[in-house]
Amino acid sequence: MKFTYYMPTRVLVGAGCVAEHSQYLCSLGQRAFLMTGKYSAAANGSLADMCAALDKEGIRWQHWNQVGPNPTLEEVRLAAAAARDFGADCIIALGGGSPMDAAKAVAVLAAGEVAVSDEVLLSQRRFVKVLPLAVVPTTAGTGSEVTPYAILTNNTLKTKSFLTSEQVYPKLAFLDGRYTLDLPLKITAATAVDAMSHAIEGYLAVRATPPGQSFALESLRLLGPQLSALAAGQTLDLAGRETLLYASMLAGIVISQSGTTAVHAMGYSLTYFKEVDHGKANGVLMAAYLRYLTPARPQEISTLLSALGQANIDSLALTLEKLIGRVQLNPDEIDRFAGIAIQAANIQNTRPQPAQEDLKTMLGNSCKK
Ligand code: NAP
Ligand code: ZN
Repeated sequence: MKFTYYMPTRVLVGAGCVAEHSQYLCSLGQRAFLMTGKYSAAANGSLADMCAALDKEGIRWQHWNQVGPNPTLEEVRLAAAAARDFGADCIIALGGGSPMDAAKAVAVLAAGEVAVSDEVLLSQRRFVKVLPLAVVPTTAGTGSEVTPYAILTNNTLKTKSFLTSEQVYPKLAFLDGRYTLDLPLKITAATAVDAMSHAIEGYLAVRATPPGQSFALESLRLLGPQLSALAAGQTLDLAGRETLLYASMLAGIVISQSGTTAVHAMGYSLTYFKEVDHGKANGVLMAAYLRYLTPARPQEISTLLSALGQANIDSLALTLEKLIGRVQLNPDEIDRFAGIAIQAANIQNTRPQPAQEDLKTMLGNSCKK
């Protein structure tokens, strides 16, 4: 056996965890730049709880509510300039993967790397200084609260690009399921499917690790009943919401060690060019991916399906279609998206490694007109 494992985030879980553990915020700094999307953080109570906790600890803060879905490199540079103007010495993000990932980039850029080019930002693994970061996930899917990745929309390359550095692991992650209670069904479903994709891909990745695989199976065991309940049109109570948030965090730890694979590589074009939600993009491709891998790795696929409580790939495909619907592509799009995906680093993390033709087949089988 041979592997390494590193996950430095302090994870605080439970209703009221922001107020209960506010003392940890003092270790971050004295001037917090608070990043959110436009509406949800104010509506779900997380913003009020965090502001009260910062006030209690005597930490000054400034609120930036301009983070849109799939944040771009241009947007994070704007936010970083505002954080520097404020003199921020730490960053706090409340929201889904978009505010959390934007905050990771701002933590790098506002710390003194503002002049760094996009190319360096997206390829360098160590920076001179990165501001410490705390996050409060309010969707249950990306797992960004425990990963060293920020996924940013790259309009030059027309895809999503990764900032990867151990320095952007959040120092603190507060997981309070109450903030996710009013998450609309469409976003709940797409984000839960994203978590499922992380667990499945992380389990199967070339860079999979034994602890990551244990977390992946536990995550799928917890996600399975919630996905089936959502597919049957049921609403989730607080316990169900907490389960999704926990399972998503576990799956985040999985990919923090292993990275993702061909599903994410192909999914980025569906999001960039077709505006398909990130989680849905992964979900529509999952059945074709598992069918592609089955001849080489039948036992592992069967282990994953049974952890999810699914009899076979067809039944999983049916559940996913009920949950997130379909995406249709024309032959030209299938060609182009396979051409973009084959260049992604996650392709080399897929075993057996697909050729461009295999990606075309997976995209074609998933997104038939
Ligand atoms: P998101 O883009 O962060 O948020 C989607 C929508 O959900 C927004 O309109 C947001 O509204 C709303 N929302 C968030 N929390 C809510 C709540 N509690 N109640 C009601 N509405 C709420 O979606 P996401 O799926 O969480 O994140 C997707 C991003 O994460 C993508 O860019 C993806 O590439 C990235 N990602 C990152 C990692 C990683 O390891 N770093 C892994 C997977 C995916 P507001 O705008 O008003 O807040
Ligand atoms: Zn994802």
